[in-house]
Amino acid sequence: MIAYLERFVHENDAESKPDRDVSSICNSLDLQGSVDGGSSGAGIADKDFGGMQSVRPLALIRPAGTEDVASVIKAAGRSPNLTVAARGNGHSINGQAMAEGGLVIDMRSTEKNHFKLVTINGSRYVDVSGGALWEDVLKRCVREFGLSPRSWTDYLSLTVGGTLSNAGVSGQTFLYGPQTSNVTELEVVTGKADTMICSESANPDLFFGVLGGLGQFGIITRARILLHPAPDKVKWIRVVYTEFEDFTRDAEFLVTRPAGESFDYVEGFVFVNSDDPVNGWPQVHLDPNHKFDPTLIPPNAGSVLYCIEVALNYRNVDRPATIDSAVSRLLGRLGFVKGLEFQVDVTYMEFLLRVNVHEELAKANGIWENPHPWLNIFVSKPNIADFDRAVFKEIVKDGVGGPMLVYPMLRSKWDSRTSVVLPEGDIFYIVALLRSTVYPKGPEVEKLVATNRKIVQVCRDKEFDFKLYLPHYQCQEDWERHFGDQWSRFVEMKRVYDPMGILAPGQKIFQKQD
Ligand code: FAD
Repeated sequence: MIAYLERFVHENDAESKPDRDVSSICNSLDLQGSVDGGSSGAGIADKDFGGMQSVRPLALIRPAGTEDVASVIKAAGRSPNLTVAARGNGHSINGQAMAEGGLVIDMRSTEKNHFKLVTINGSRYVDVSGGALWEDVLKRCVREFGLSPRSWTDYLSLTVGGTLSNAGVSGQTFLYGPQTSNVTELEVVTGKADTMICSESANPDLFFGVLGGLGQFGIITRARILLHPAPDKVKWIRVVYTEFEDFTRDAEFLVTRPAGESFDYVEGFVFVNSDDPVNGWPQVHLDPNHKFDPTLIPPNAGSVLYCIEVALNYRNVDRPATIDSAVSRLLGRLGFVKGLEFQVDVTYMEFLLRVNVHEELAKANGIWENPHPWLNIFVSKPNIADFDRAVFKEIVKDGVGGPMLVYPMLRSKWDSRTSVVLPEGDIFYIVALLRSTVYPKGPEVEKLVATNRKIVQVCRDKEFDFKLYLPHYQCQEDWERHFGDQWSRFVEMKRVYDPMGILAPGQKIFQKQD
């Protein structure tokens, strides 16, 4: 089998690249799943949501389960060149789930595996495949058990393994921590092809290393996720600010309230103070019947405005008056522009699947397939006002053709034992510039990427305390700087769990060793 693979790889290294029936790889690996590749192409494996990178793998493997994943890694370990990338749903921006000339494992082919409710000491969890989409986890947990995971991303067509390899953040993060704080056990196939169960008490270094570990130490084949009772409905609210200081004061007030005394979800975004349909006032309302009345904006307001977005979960049995008074009490403490306040009641599922509507629209307009030069940064609270002045009010004051999120999180809700790196300080903000491109009507992608670089450079020049989220660097020096004093631990974990550097080559952190 290995001799076959090596011959295959060497032939592929040569210019001739002979056409091969890659189904023989499948036979040689003795997989229960299937393989795509050769002249038929490797399907989705050379594409991602970012749309800015494309490298051709040797093959795309659709494993049936954990044993297949282990077989693929074992085979790669015996070849001098082969690397292996787990591909979740390919929603990375910079080719992180790709493997040039390597084996890409489509984890979605395992998405239905493992689904099981588990009760331990009265707490309920669901075991799911690393290749499961969060939206399927949501739907099945609510429909089958009346339960739901607690911590989400804004968009749910992402896999469990893909978000746990980064962090997984949204408006619930201030309350429950990122998704990496809401998982208690993993099954992982390491870069040595060992299948290991890990948790806080069993193989804890692997457990915490893999969480936020950018796929470097193992492939998550199963995750155990903490559940709570699923609410029925959500009161979803947006309020508008003209001053960044008022916006941050209120956002921080909401995320630092004692448990049970705030909303269940707190986010925020910046938008352009104009009627621009994509970047301006029309972004804010929650219902086509809502009217954004610009005459309520004070005349001295700047080029950008701010919006706090909150949500309160409730049950059908709750009295509307009780919910309304809880909402009024909290909103009454906030200093937003009176009259620029929008509310709707939606089902819990509609709320969590809210981005799907935009996805369908973007697909219909053809912009979903366009490149997405996104930038995500965590910026420490002491620097966020300067960031606003230098970036929101200057560099992106005309918008980015998509949401510009900014909202606070609490470091105390993140487990410092994971591989995620954060700014110092108790409170930091996520800034997400979620650009859509409409070239040739808009700027070229390269210009937008250059603007992203400029923003990062501004953060460096002004010595902000910041870290990239969903990081992407080209050289090891930058990775070293990113991880800071956690770098040596990260390198040591790689040495222990993937000493040949087989896994997740698309992150460009380590090279495969012979
Ligand atoms: P992929 O892009 O397929 O993979 C990402 C990385 O993880 C790769 O290195 C891959 O090799 C590795 N990997 C994948 N599966 C596994 C596995 N099972 N085991 C080990 N490693 C694995 N993020 C947030 O935190 N919050 C958001 O609100 C949010 N919203 C988003 C909205 C959209 C429209 C998009 C495109 C992305 C969003 N993201 C968000 C970012 C997203 O969480 C990451 O890009 C995530 O990696 C995508 O998951 P995926 O399943 O597509 O992973």
